[in-house]
Order: sequence, then structure tokens, then C-alpha cells
Amino acid sequence: MGYDIIVLGGGPAGLAAAVAARGRGKTVLVIGNPWRDSPLAKAERVDNYLGLPGRTGAELVGTFRAHAEELGADFLTGRALSVMAWNGFMVTVGSQVCDGQALILAPGVVRQAKYPGESEFLGRGVSYCATCDGMLYRGKPVAVVGRSKDAPLEANYLHGIGCQVTYVSAREPEGLDRAIPWVKANKLAVKGTQTVTALEADGADLPCAGVFILREAVAPADLLPGLETEGGFIKVDRAMATNLPGVFAAGDCTGLPLQAAKAVGEGHVAALSACEYLDKRKEA
Ligand SMILES: Cc1cc2nc3c(=O)[nH]c(=O)nc-3n(C[C@H](O)[C@H](O)[C@H](O)COP(=O)(O)OP(=O)(O)OC[C@H]3O[C@@H](n4cnc5c(N)ncnc54)[C@H](O)[C@@H]3O)c2cc1C
Repeated sequence: MGYDIIVLGGGPAGLAAAVAARGRGKTVLVIGNPWRDSPLAKAERVDNYLGLPGRTGAELVGTFRAHAEELGADFLTGRALSVMAWNGFMVTVGSQVCDGQALILAPGVVRQAKYPGESEFLGRGVSYCATCDGMLYRGKPVAVVGRSKDAPLEANYLHGIGCQVTYVSAREPEGLDRAIPWVKANKLAVKGTQTVTALEADGADLPCAGVFILREAVAPADLLPGLETEGGFIKVDRAMATNLPGVFAAGDCTGLPLQAAKAVGEGHVAALSACEYLDKRKEA
């Protein structure tokens, strides 16, 4: 089903956006990792959220989520892996594709730094999506860098379609197919010439044609080509509009301060701007 608005990220900014957009009668799909993964849900006590002092972070996010659910927002739990602007927006979540006419980015901040060579070889051997790109590497050696809970399952998938998988992570993975070799390593770098030729893992080269880097979050500019960023944050105007038509952003992803109240306010504004954008398009 196509939605008026797709919200990427189910933290305070995304949930506030969902509430505001439902208030304007728009259909909304919130795509996000499990809500308990929002950083706020990990806060033992939040004292600076207006009117609700002394709650745990989990209580606050749970309340925000219930509010959005009550107003009729739909939810899809999973990691968005790529966004394509085509007659609206197509968002890939695992093997599913969801489409919406406007997009609100509220993915928080990516807390894991990129590896040397990662950006340089993105699309030339580096991938963030096993389902999307796995077939390209059938019969070839690939390294899977496991930084998310579901990474072993994605490695199993690649193994199942015929890739020669080596799994690389700092900790022993749970649920990895026993046929897949595991390399314990911390310090990684992607190497290559025109395309990827190896993953360097703690000083030793693992020859491979592809490197799947599987984190809980994907940096917004990697999700959506052409999105303008500044100092690692998404560049927005006061309407929370980005440089791309129909794309709005809110919360930690737009910059400091990284606080829930700011995220909620921006989510609200982004949703109203997205609604205005949709209404104007309908009139035109
Ligand atoms: C321990 C701790 C304590 C804190 N205490 C306070 C406090 O007391 N007061 C305060 O105001 N702030 C506090 N903060 C900061 C607050 O948590 C953030 O400012 C707030 O959560 C930002 O909301 P957000 O919606 O922008 O992003 P987030 O809450 O980060 O939500 C974004 C969500 O999107 C998900 N996501 C990202 N990429 C994808 C993708 N590609 N596909 C699917 N899902 C994706 C993320 O996993 C996350 O669940 C604290 C933070 C931490 C870590």
C-alpha cells in the first residue's frame, strides 16, 4: 500500500511527526528498528522533558509510541536499507519495498564511525544490504562485517544463495551457520583498486570481491543519494525541509542539541511541512 508520508525512524522525532501528520489526516508509515533501541529508551531517568519529569526513557518512548498508534499510524519494524526517489519515495526494508509521497527522515545519529575505504568503495564492492546486492556476489568470496543483531542471519542468507562468506566481528556471533568461518577482529579497512579486493582485519588481508557492512543504522546520505549534509548532520531550513523536494528531516539527525524536546518539536514541524507539500501538489 502507498502512504502519504513515510517516516524513517521510530524515536521521539519520528513519533512526533507521525502524530502531527495523522492529526492532518494523512496516512503514515513509521519504519524503524524496535523502539526499545532508541537511545532515549536507555535513559534511566529523564528530568528535562516538559511536564513529565522523572520518567524513565523507556516510559517516555513507550508513551510516544502508544500515542502514534492510537492515532492510526502504521508501523514496520526493520532497518531501512535504501531510499529511491521515483514517483514519490520507495524505501527498501529487508526484502520489502514501501512507498510514500513524502519522506521524513528521523533516524537519530549514527554512532559508529566508518571504516577506512568504506565510503570510497561504496557501490564498488561495499554494500549495506545483503538482500539487495547478494546476487551480484554469487560464487564469489565476500566478507560480512557484523555490527547488528541480525547480521548473522544476513550472512546465512548470503551463504544460502552461494556466496563464499567469511563473517568478521569483534564478538562471537549468535545464530551464524556453522559452515561460515568467523574471524574475530576489531580494526578493519576496505581495500581495492577499481573495486574491492580485500578486507583488512587486524592487519591481515581477507581477499574478497564484496564487503557487506551491517550496522543497526545507515548514515542518511548513504540511504538517499544527493542528500545535503553539513558536519555529519542533515542540512535543513526552518520548515525542516532538506535540499531534496518532498524530503524533510527532524531530531538528532539535523544537529545539536541532541535532546528529546528538540527532536519532538522538529518532528512536529517536519510533519506539518510535509502535509503542506502534499496539499500543494494536489492543488497543482
Ligand atoms: C543514555 C542516554 C540518555 C539520554 N538522556 C536524555 C535526557 O535525559 N533528556 C533528553 O532530552 N535527551 C536525552 N538523550 C538524548 C535523546 O535520546 C535523543 O536526543 C533523542 O532520542 C533523539 O530522538 P530522535 O527521534 O531524533 O532519534 P532516536 O531516538 O535516535 O531515534 C531514531 C530511531 O531510528 C532508528 N533508525 C536509524 N536508522 C534507521 C534505519 N535505517 N532503519 C530503521 N530505523 C532506523 C534508530 O535505531 C532509532 O531507534 C539521551 C540519550 C542517551 C543515549
